[in-house]
Amino acid sequence: MACVSYPYAAPVSQTLFDRAAAVTPGGVNSPVRAFRAVGGTPRFMVSGAGPYLTDADGREYVDLVCSWGPMILGHSHPEVTAAVQAAVARGTSFGTPGEGEVALAEEIVARVGPVEQVRLVSSGTEATMSAIRLARGFTGRAKVIKFAGCYHGHVDALLAAAGSGVATFGLPDTPGVTGAQAGETVVLPYNDLEAVREAFAAHPGEIACVITEASPGNMGVVPPLPGFNAGLKQLCADNGALYISDEVMTGFRVSKAGWYGLDGVEPDLMTFGKVMGGGFPAAAFGGRADIMARLAPAGPVYQAGTLSGNPVATAAGVAQLRLLDDAAYEKVDAASARLRALVTEALAKEGVAHRVQAAGNMFSVFFTTDEVTNYEKARAQEAFRFTAFFHSMLSQGVYLPPSAFESWFVSTAHDERALERVAVALPGAARAAAEAAE
Ligand code: PLP
Repeated sequence: MACVSYPYAAPVSQTLFDRAAAVTPGGVNSPVRAFRAVGGTPRFMVSGAGPYLTDADGREYVDLVCSWGPMILGHSHPEVTAAVQAAVARGTSFGTPGEGEVALAEEIVARVGPVEQVRLVSSGTEATMSAIRLARGFTGRAKVIKFAGCYHGHVDALLAAAGSGVATFGLPDTPGVTGAQAGETVVLPYNDLEAVREAFAAHPGEIACVITEASPGNMGVVPPLPGFNAGLKQLCADNGALYISDEVMTGFRVSKAGWYGLDGVEPDLMTFGKVMGGGFPAAAFGGRADIMARLAPAGPVYQAGTLSGNPVATAAGVAQLRLLDDAAYEKVDAASARLRALVTEALAKEGVAHRVQAAGNMFSVFFTTDEVTNYEKARAQEAFRFTAFFHSMLSQGVYLPPSAFESWFVSTAHDERALERVAVALPGAARAAAEAAE
């Protein structure tokens, strides 16, 4: 951990965090929220409006996390809020089919060509877990190829990474995942088609699917090299395996049709979450109709959920997706481009070695000069500089992801005033990064 001072105390947040730690492991319900990578007091937020968040100590921040992606229209968007309020007034859960879930499925199918049918679930983790089960049920095969540094939620079989450098055996990344659960997972370096070719050759007729983030954002932003996704698709087709593109993060964020809208490579199955839920727990998996037809009750592969297609969540999702037209994406793209330019300028001025990598409007900053094409390279950056940079930004009212390995997110609400506030904060943060010592 770098030696950083935390210029602003956050006494109310600290009190809440102490209370939380007494009743919740680590004081949080999702680990990255605890600020362990950067230290200091996690900010407890009490409200959000447009591009701003306000914490329990009454301090306002420009939000560059956007709830880790979902809030692409900013916080408390009036039309999404109205749709939610109307849905709540009609009742919050029926456990029956409802029109809202049909409308959300129709929105997804209309936007994303390869999705002929879609099943709604409540989290991205559920979506990837179910897609893997379906791929195994469809192909009758057990093994799954995933890439180091790609995160697909906390699915047992997908929490295997090549931590030990053993490329062809999945090693559990966490206690609680057994060797048997991870043993059918083949973990390979990202952006390495040759490794995928070799894995297919080593396991003939055994690989059910390759799952990849459409464009990874969970090791920082590391886009696929030209031809990588197309190569994966081809290798899957040649070997009777399914190509699963995880668009939980990129879906409906980087374009109307997500990453598919940018690279046009047609997956067999896709997973979605975040933006499609409008800030509520809604996610989905979908794809080729012949594969989706294997899912219960149409087919034998079981999958279900008490709150799947929840009427409030689907109302939020439909309202948000319908507002996401070409003009909305142009705004988000422009805000992202402006921020990237500002960050680059500030860090360059202080002589800080860095790379700003983007995938559509998602981007992150690596404290290294080398192009980052995989997890190993991402981990080689000087992450201690990020810690100093983060705390300087936080103290100046800019809320960044509290980790050097996460994407930054912007929204249609990030207007000139919000971007100017970031611009004002950046020189000090760049200086802090330059002066940081390990
Ligand atoms: N897949 C990707 C690409 C993600 O980024 C995430 C979450 O960040 C997930 C799956 C898991 O989604 P959830 O956190 O909704 O379970």
